[in-house]
Amino acid sequence: MRIPRFYVTDALTVGQEFPLPDTTFRHAIQVLRLNTGEPLILFNGEGREYLARIESVGKRTASAHIESFSPIDTESPIQLTLAQAIIKPDKMDFALQKAVELGVNTIQPLITQRSVVRVGKEKADKKSQHWEGIVVAACEQSGRTRLPQVLPPLTLDAWLESACTGTRLILAPGDFPHINALPKDLPAPITLLIGPEGGFTDEEVQQCLQAGMTAVSLGPRILRAETASLAALALLQHHYGDI
Ligand code: SAM
Repeated sequence: MRIPRFYVTDALTVGQEFPLPDTTFRHAIQVLRLNTGEPLILFNGEGREYLARIESVGKRTASAHIESFSPIDTESPIQLTLAQAIIKPDKMDFALQKAVELGVNTIQPLITQRSVVRVGKEKADKKSQHWEGIVVAACEQSGRTRLPQVLPPLTLDAWLESACTGTRLILAPGDFPHINALPKDLPAPITLLIGPEGGFTDEEVQQCLQAGMTAVSLGPRILRAETASLAALALLQHHYGDI
């Protein structure tokens, strides 16, 4: 049976009796119904896992005894950033979940000219918190021990002005070289930019090219933004990473 994994923000030490944080309590005890003596894995984003066992269960609290740790490394050898134009909430959640499963290290939500979903300053914090929750759940499920970073949303203009090293790809349908035609020795880190439901404007594509980005296509069919991101990330991990 697969041992359930939980992300916690606290420091963890072997031998410690660890009081489960509220969210872990709800998931482990109230949803999964773990009982005294049952195993669970805890990780805190430092690149290792801790094997623990439920020590005590109360009505509103529970604790686990941390038995051992293993320095598990499930990270991809390539540093990969997904710069995703914000799309409708359920599609954005899907894109972020798949990006984490596919080994992305950094997620940069972007506001572009055709973004349907507008994120005002007051909503940005709430959105970021929600996206961080998606990332945590995807790490718990996929066995990652390091948490990808979700950066605060930026406009495309502001993002293009920020310093960036390595290779920056813009995925745009049309007469651009196929993503599979990229050279084998692509400078790392790799950043992949995906447009919103309505795509990029011609002006935005030009702006990206002038900023030194490389435009690539995914073939003749127009994919939904969340499909395009999943397909392109899988191809990049296949060519340069660990898939
Ligand atoms: N009519 C829009 C256009 O022509 O750009 C379609 C946008 S598509 C639904 C959303 C995003 O997915 C695009 O901005 C692009 O980043 C990516 N995409 C979808 N299909 C693609 C393809 N065949 N090649 C490259 N990028 C693609």
